[in-house]
Amino acid sequence: MRIRVGHLYPDYLNIYADRGNIAVLAERARARGHELDVRAIGMHDAVPGGEIDLFYVGGGQDREQELVARDLVAKAGPLRSAVESGAAFLAVCGGYQLLGRSYRDVAGVELPGIGLLPLVTVAGKGRMIGDVLLDCTWAGETLAGFENHAGRTLLDEGAEPLGRVVSGFGNDGSSGYEGCRYKRAYGTYLHGPLLPRNPWFADRLLEEALAHAGVEERFAPLADELEHEAHAVSAERARTRGGRR
Ligand code: GLN
Repeated sequence: MRIRVGHLYPDYLNIYADRGNIAVLAERARARGHELDVRAIGMHDAVPGGEIDLFYVGGGQDREQELVARDLVAKAGPLRSAVESGAAFLAVCGGYQLLGRSYRDVAGVELPGIGLLPLVTVAGKGRMIGDVLLDCTWAGETLAGFENHAGRTLLDEGAEPLGRVVSGFGNDGSSGYEGCRYKRAYGTYLHGPLLPRNPWFADRLLEEALAHAGVEERFAPLADELEHEAHAVSAERARTRGGRR
């Protein structure tokens, strides 16, 4: 199968090893006999609606978010209907914030989001930086990563977080939640990058992208020795941070 990936704003939102996440998806798809077809969806480009199985948007600073926010709003309709029709979506950090309804940045500028995820974000004083460990009970797995954000993200009542914070700050440093998921869309502050050290999550995204393309497949696990070691090192660094702060 060709798994069709739409990489939003690779020229603008790309500062947190976002290409590394895409490379992991490509390699893990290849190991299962599939091919990743990655298309850039940039400023002023139309979203090729039903032709994309997995959308990806990466992280950026407030400046880059400001540059893309209005263009992203113009793409809101096709992106939202793609997710409603079962497309998968991974949004990291700056991209995650813009999938919510709004992001008020450090300078107090209110940027519109696309309301695909039920949340709002407001930048606060001080950045939340460090290793993070999440318990994703919905998947029976953990996620290890690194966060670096000024934004405090508040989920709407009843919204599903990506995980419960074991160590680290998470969405806002106080709720105990990190990220958000809706259907097959996932938003998270974890970069660093995320997918090399959390192979189960990469596989899940690929399986969900395949399901969107009409193929139900459960991948056999790969050996993943280095990946599991990377997860263990990252999880340990998060734990020695001294618990949730
Ligand atoms: N500018 C946003 C923040 O600091 C997002 C930064 C990022 O992508 N790390 O909250």
